Amino acid sequence: MSSLSPLSPRTRAILDILGPFLSSIRDSTYARRQHEPGILDFMLGDPHEPPLPGITEAIQRWSVPQDNHWFAYKLSEPQAQAAVAAALRQRRGIPFAAEDILMTTGAFGALANSLLALAGEDDEVVFISPPWFFYEAMIAAAGATPVRVAVQPGTFDLDLEAISAAITPQTRVVLVNSPHNPTGKIYPPETLERLAKLLREASERHGRPIYLISDESYSRIVYDGRTYHSPAAYYPYTVLIYTLGKTLLAPSQRLGYIALPPDMPEREQVHLAIMMRQVVGGYGFPNAVMQYAVGDLEELSIDIDHLQRKRDRVVAALREMGYEVHTPEGTFYLLPRSPWADDLAFTELLATHGIFVLPGASIEVPGYFRVSLTASDDMIDRALPGLAAAIAHARTHAPAAAGG
Ligand code: PMP
Repeated sequence: MSSLSPLSPRTRAILDILGPFLSSIRDSTYARRQHEPGILDFMLGDPHEPPLPGITEAIQRWSVPQDNHWFAYKLSEPQAQAAVAAALRQRRGIPFAAEDILMTTGAFGALANSLLALAGEDDEVVFISPPWFFYEAMIAAAGATPVRVAVQPGTFDLDLEAISAAITPQTRVVLVNSPHNPTGKIYPPETLERLAKLLREASERHGRPIYLISDESYSRIVYDGRTYHSPAAYYPYTVLIYTLGKTLLAPSQRLGYIALPPDMPEREQVHLAIMMRQVVGGYGFPNAVMQYAVGDLEELSIDIDHLQRKRDRVVAALREMGYEVHTPEGTFYLLPRSPWADDLAFTELLATHGIFVLPGASIEVPGYFRVSLTASDDMIDRALPGLAAAIAHARTHAPAAAGG
């Protein structure tokens, strides 16, 4: 009987949702070989080059106590809130106030706690497919019902008609991510304007606000001189989420934030609810040193021009080999089409060349695979021959013959 399970029904539901991701990480050839020397790991947005020296300098500088409370319990540190608000005012052109910033353990903490604060039983949360791995599970963890809406095929832009059709009187939150992992799409201002209009009308119709959670993790990882536009400039019920984990490429040093726009009604109440979720969820604040350091860290970034050169080089090389791949506008990722419809079989074929990429099936884009550009130039040099050999093989062999 299922009642004998040591797990609660909600935990079981979360594990079911995460099944494909867990198996791509735990039961795969990748799981067995990821620590082998010399393997070419293009799976995740993790660093493969030395960390930025400025990170160490900032941590060293701010780890020296300046008063007796230096390592006391901290909520969101006023110094960190002020630094973030100043950076956001400059980058977004929106007059964010320091008291409307919540410091979080990256975008993970920001997403989990804003979902927990805003959505619950009987609420629906619309999210966009293909999604980041954990959205659906985080929505379920908040007790709410995840409602999936696919992007437009081809353009990867938001399908506003489909979002509109998915909204019901129970819709509490719509969750979007731009620049979008894994397609690299940046939603243009026209899309954000139309989304805001649609949400305003639906909120009015149903008599309560629909919040827009905007995951802006990659807002500084943009290419070709593009400008990033935040939904917060168009819709006052936007919960802006950011992590320093991308520009610093130091994701284990958990640091991120939530910003509530100055025109959001009742934002003090939203702030308090999120903060209390942080406390009761296990004291989910970044550690004091990272909070003091945020002003210094905010100014640092990995070399985006270098990332763009890697994008251009790999896109051109893959196309030349015969892969179908579009050019992402931002993020760390390429999303080539798998030469075999079965992307799991093709990623296993790449693994025989020591190349590890994320199968599209694990992120709701079957028939594709995701390649992280955080790999080093040397890794790219060493992977290109294997990528060429794999597509040549796939053109003349069926997956079963190659599976091995
Ligand atoms: N959102 C998206 C879209 C992401 O890609 C990631 C990291 N891969 C996160 C949130 C979480 O970021 P962090 O680990 O810095 O909290």
